[in-house]
Amino acid sequence: CAAAALLVRHRMKSSGRWARSMAILKEFEEKCGTPTGKLRQVADAMTVEMHAGLASEGGSKLKMLISYVDNLPTGDENGLFYALDLGGTNFRVLRVQLGGKDKRVVSQEFDEVSIPPHLMTRTSDALFDFIAAALAKFVNTEAEGCRPPPGRQRELGFTFSFPVRQLSIASGTLIKWTKGFNIEDAVGEDVVGELTKAMEKIGLDMRVTALVNDTIGTLAGGRYYNQDVIAAVILGTGTNAAYIERAHAIPKWHGLLPKSGEMVINMEWGNFRSSHLPLTEYDQALDTESLNPGEQIFEKLISGMYLGDIVRRVLLKMAEEADFFGDTVPPKLRVPFVLRTPNMSAMHHDTSPDLKVVGSKLKDILEISNTSLKIRKTVVEICDIVATRGARLAAAGILGIIKKLGRDILRDAEKQRSVIALDGGLFEHYTKFSTCMESTLKELLGDEVAETIVIIHSNDGSGIGAALLAASHSQYLGVEEL
Ligand code: BGC
Ligand code: MG
Repeated sequence: CAAAALLVRHRMKSSGRWARSMAILKEFEEKCGTPTGKLRQVADAMTVEMHAGLASEGGSKLKMLISYVDNLPTGDENGLFYALDLGGTNFRVLRVQLGGKDKRVVSQEFDEVSIPPHLMTRTSDALFDFIAAALAKFVNTEAEGCRPPPGRQRELGFTFSFPVRQLSIASGTLIKWTKGFNIEDAVGEDVVGELTKAMEKIGLDMRVTALVNDTIGTLAGGRYYNQDVIAAVILGTGTNAAYIERAHAIPKWHGLLPKSGEMVINMEWGNFRSSHLPLTEYDQALDTESLNPGEQIFEKLISGMYLGDIVRRVLLKMAEEADFFGDTVPPKLRVPFVLRTPNMSAMHHDTSPDLKVVGSKLKDILEISNTSLKIRKTVVEICDIVATRGARLAAAGILGIIKKLGRDILRDAEKQRSVIALDGGLFEHYTKFSTCMESTLKELLGDEVAETIVIIHSNDGSGIGAALLAASHSQYLGVEEL
């Protein structure tokens, strides 16, 4: 009889827990809602901010940075060029032999080096010395016939995936760090100067002829293969977009009108914010505790650096306030960024009937064993809420660009094709995210317009794109082949 009473009490306690957990989940889900109407408001706010950012320097949270790229690759680019791609947890060095219209990319080699985490927060010298050393090592692997002609300096396209105020196509000062980088003494410095200094120190004779954001590189790389590319979006560790604007529509540009009449704009959309964004208490806390509070709010809702941590925060609250994982709060749940987005994605895509993957991730990463199927299903649900919100907001951002360009309306019978080049680990590997993003874009555009907007995956386009822009800005242009 006593045992039965205990059992009843236990059942009551656990059903109380469950109800409280579900209440927390339900509230989170409601706050994350992104109905079509809300997405339209977000897209419109994006368009408004685009105008404001183009009108004057500091006119908007959207910096709408002028890239000094007013000509995109044509296919004629020729010669041997290097590229360096810095912006996430890895950096890549590339060597590309370009053969002009017919031959295009004759050969391409690359090396990928992971950045020791401590270098992301120390000094500018430490970071750039490390990069220059890796670059020099790569240059040393040049094979016979894959070298610049004698007397000719090697040239590099430098993809630097942070907000930079460009001073020219090959120079620019760092506005601020994002994505876990925080090296104070580099802010305000010319990053090309910093890299050049480091290369000179070790006797590496190479000149940066183009400094570009990864969105600009991706746009250039996409355009090389497809002349209908008009914009590029990165969905990776961070998020951002670039697009081709009419020079006339950039009031803050006081330079010469480019011959093409066009200028590529790096939006830095990660810093977009609007009262229409569905922010929750978890997002507020994540922001406050981040390396850059108050900054990159759109990015913190969408990109790979943060999605997993939002899921962790919701689980932590359920554990603390509703004993979701039992009487004690699993200590690992308190560790910021332990649950990384690739693991979140693995759980979200688990199709096994007993959610085996979810079970083993919870055990291996969060040290929570013996989870019930009910618990595992709830975890998947949280992943779904977080990923869906991010993907739908990204689609709204893209709609904002399409609207700014007036391509959300079909003009006459002529069907203009607009291609958007996408890249980044989130887009590439988190299938449920990219599928949701693309279907939301269709939903927002309507069937007829959706047919004219094409999303392509520009796989590592930013590296090739930087090399192409290095080529089209070469110091030897117009000089007879040696
Ligand atoms: C940076 C952008 C970059 C994006 C994607 C953001 O955090 O501010 O410059 O394009 O990440 O890499
Ligand atoms: Mg890739």
